[in-house]
Amino acid sequence: MRLVILGGPGAGKGTQGRLLCENLGIPWIATGEIFRKAIAADTPLGIKAKPYVEQGELVPDAIAIEFIRDRLNQADAANGWLLDGYPRTAFQAEELDFLLQDMGQQLDWAIWLDAPVEVLMQRSLERSRDDDAPQIVRRRIDLFHQRTIPITGYYKPQDKLLRIDSDRPREVVQEDLLAQLNAPQA
Ligand code: AMP
Repeated sequence: MRLVILGGPGAGKGTQGRLLCENLGIPWIATGEIFRKAIAADTPLGIKAKPYVEQGELVPDAIAIEFIRDRLNQADAANGWLLDGYPRTAFQAEELDFLLQDMGQQLDWAIWLDAPVEVLMQRSLERSRDDDAPQIVRRRIDLFHQRTIPITGYYKPQDKLLRIDSDRPREVVQEDLLAQLNAPQA
C-alpha cells in the first residue's frame, strides 16, 4: 500500500504512522524525523535543512522533492510505503504524482489526521523537541493551515482523501484507520 499522512504538529502523524507501518509491513518515511537526524549528524542534507527546521519554516520544495525522489527509488520502497510529513505543499503533492507516474506507481490514500488547533498546540508542547517551543509550534500550525490543508482539496476529487478524527485515544484512531483502509467506502 502507498500512503501519505497529513496532519499538523501534534496530530499524531508519527505515532499513527509508525503503528500503521508495523501493521501493514511497509516502511515509514518521515521527512521531519529524517531532517532532524540529518541536522544532528551534520550531513549535507542536515546542513541544508537546518535553518528552516529550527525556525519551524518549511524546507524549500526543491530539497524535499529531491530527497523523496531518491528515497522512493530505494529497494525497500519498491512494494509500498507511508510518507509522514510529505507532501507539505500543493506543489509537493503534484510532484509526487509525477514521480509516481514515472515509476509506474500510484498513491492509494492520503490520510488526514484532523484535530482542533488547541489539541495540536497542547500535544506539541508536551514534547521537548527543539522545534516544539511555543512560538515555533504556532508558526508550524499556521503553515499547516496555509500550505498543507489545501492539499486535501487536491486529493478529495481523486477520491483518495481519508479524514480521520485524531482527537481520540491513539488505539481508537489506529483501529479506525485500519478499518477504513480495509473498507474505505464504508
Ligand atoms: P514534522 O516532524 O513532520 O512536523 O516536520 C518537522 C519539520 O521538518 C517541519 O517543521 C519542516 O521544517 C520540515 N519538514 C518536514 N517535512 C517537510 C516537507 N515535506 N517539506 C518541507 N519541510 C518539511
